[in-house]
Amino acid sequence: MSIAGGVQMSIQRGCSIGCSAMQMFVKNNMQWFARPLTRQEIGAFLKHSQRRELLSIFAHANYLINLAATNPQFHANSLRALAEELIRADQLKLPFLVLHPGAHLGAGEEAGLEKIVESIDCVFSGIPKIKTRIALETTAGQGSCLGSTFEQLAYIISRVREPERLCVCLDTAHIFAAGHDIGSESAIRKTFREFDRVIGRDRLVAIHVNDSKTARGSRVDRHEHIGKGKIGLEAFRFIMRDRRFREIPKVLETPKGKDLAEDVQNLKTLRILAAEQ
Ligand SMILES: [Zn+2]
Repeated sequence: MSIAGGVQMSIQRGCSIGCSAMQMFVKNNMQWFARPLTRQEIGAFLKHSQRRELLSIFAHANYLINLAATNPQFHANSLRALAEELIRADQLKLPFLVLHPGAHLGAGEEAGLEKIVESIDCVFSGIPKIKTRIALETTAGQGSCLGSTFEQLAYIISRVREPERLCVCLDTAHIFAAGHDIGSESAIRKTFREFDRVIGRDRLVAIHVNDSKTARGSRVDRHEHIGKGKIGLEAFRFIMRDRRFREIPKVLETPKGKDLAEDVQNLKTLRILAAEQ
């Protein structure tokens, strides 16, 4: 949800269309850095009269951050920006910040994963008191992006010094584009069994509920409205109805205009699936 006009504005927007969970940026998502949040801004968010209407609010990191960046300046910016965003998220009492693990840019999978592990250690060691965790997001594997297999995320978690500060956000469009079969109930169950086995069920803290414009295994990340893409409604029906996901916040990241009409429609589609007998 947009934070145009101030971080607290996202709450109003989310509540205006009946959201019960919300993902937000903690600053302009196309800029490296921003001035710190003021006391007033933090207060306006935390004391917002509608904040309790949202059962879960969490953050998404900006898209410039690449913990596996090969350019030293770009890498240094990434570490600083991530630390600053974790601090902002913590000030807003958000439990986790969703982050794309990084892209190795030709350095290779192994070198990229090592760099991500080192980077996370470095960021966390600089902000020992920050409670907001990093939720590593499953990715489509576009280009040299890491995080398209459950094994890669598990590797990062197993190698960092403070694994308790990491969790995972699953994106339906990304795992589909990365090649996972979620086309039928049995296939979905199998994919989640694999998630449980490789990463662990307890790590899952959020789901990005997106349909995919691109085919399974395409490794191309293009979100589509629920039911209008290539995934099919079965996966969304399962996620909306299975008991194991009941307490997991689910958010849309589908295309939308300022009036949020598309969000309203997608929420409606999902809630109909959830209520089906
Ligand atoms: Zn996502």
